[in-house]
Amino acid sequence: MTVSSRETAGTTGREIPFCRTVITADAQQAAQRILASGWVTMGAESVAFEEEFAAWVGARHAVAVSSCTAAIQMALTALGLPPGSGVLTPTLTFCGAVQAIVHAGLRPVLVDADEHTLAVSPEGVAAAARRGASAMVVQHMAGYPLDSAELAAAAGIPPENIVEDAAHGLGATLRGRPVGSDTNAACFSFYATKNLPIGEGGAITTSDSALAERMRRMRLHGMSGDAWRRYHKSGSWRYTVESSGLKANFTDIQAAIGRAQLRSLSHWQDRRAAIAARYDALLASVPGIGLPPRPARDRHAWHLYIVRVRDEFGTPRDAVVEALSGAGVGTSVHFIPVHHQPYFRDLLGPDGCAGLAAADALFPQLLSLPLHPGLTDPDIERVCEALAAAAAR
Ligand SMILES: *Cc1c(COP(=O)(O)O)cnc(C)c1O
Repeated sequence: MTVSSRETAGTTGREIPFCRTVITADAQQAAQRILASGWVTMGAESVAFEEEFAAWVGARHAVAVSSCTAAIQMALTALGLPPGSGVLTPTLTFCGAVQAIVHAGLRPVLVDADEHTLAVSPEGVAAAARRGASAMVVQHMAGYPLDSAELAAAAGIPPENIVEDAAHGLGATLRGRPVGSDTNAACFSFYATKNLPIGEGGAITTSDSALAERMRRMRLHGMSGDAWRRYHKSGSWRYTVESSGLKANFTDIQAAIGRAQLRSLSHWQDRRAAIAARYDALLASVPGIGLPPRPARDRHAWHLYIVRVRDEFGTPRDAVVEALSGAGVGTSVHFIPVHHQPYFRDLLGPDGCAGLAAADALFPQLLSLPLHPGLTDPDIERVCEALAAAAAR
């Protein structure tokens, strides 16, 4: 008879999920208020969310959209590059961010991972750029802030052709300034596991007023500004369409949840940093476990806490995942390199999947431990004990 992980966990304490989405009581009430209001899709509440989100990030503009994936696609489309132009992207990233490049009519050019940061390095982007690239998606892996300007210079790409995938970057700083505060386009995610969870949703922050207007039209079929008001008593039925667009708008239900969740975000960020520090302290002495990199001066967003299960640990990563699951501890792996996926292998061919050896070597070692603001100190200790116990002796 096999024993399920749930039963095994019963002997060691309650389950510690990899992530648990917290929607605060205030946010639940705010959603109720919108549901009862007679206006549930994008409207005034979304405008208020955009203002408050932009203020939290320190950005001039925020445009709320349906997802970070849509945000990346839209920001790339707005660059107006010739179809098929190359766009640098890490191979160690979420597949959706690379699908967004394809949907923008552009060609992903995969960049190898840096052995230390797990993100891309100036050397890595410079090497990949030799295969031809006009733009770059910079991804702040796990919340470790990257210097987009430095990467753009290394790759020989104009800084205005950088799109930041800040799905992990909310709350990080670079040279003291928040990620997304001073940018052509930074794309955030409000997916259920992210640092500002709404459930689904995304936003683009930008310093460029014209780009913000363009994104507002693009998210709603290319219709002229404030087209969402056409069913509102202050609106008009008349609109014009002057550019292509998507159906990628936000909703006031999301906005109401987001506005309420924003009030907890600074506190949640502090808790994430404290959890990461506690993990560092408890795991520093576990042989064969590599700790995540920390920026020298800047603030890490601590979206993920990724350890490396090195050969010295004795137990391979996949078996560690099983052992932790058996102990009631949920984990994940970020990410399966994009060039390991059949679709992208076919799309990019052998040449497009070459030169990615560091990502290949890192992938079998990567293990993301639970990291969410609801994690207690005893939870962290249990995770670390279970991890240490998984070592081969
Ligand atoms: C979650 C994530 C995305 C996609 O975000 P959605 O809002 O779900 O579209 C993109 N990039 C990275 C690195 C992510 O982790």
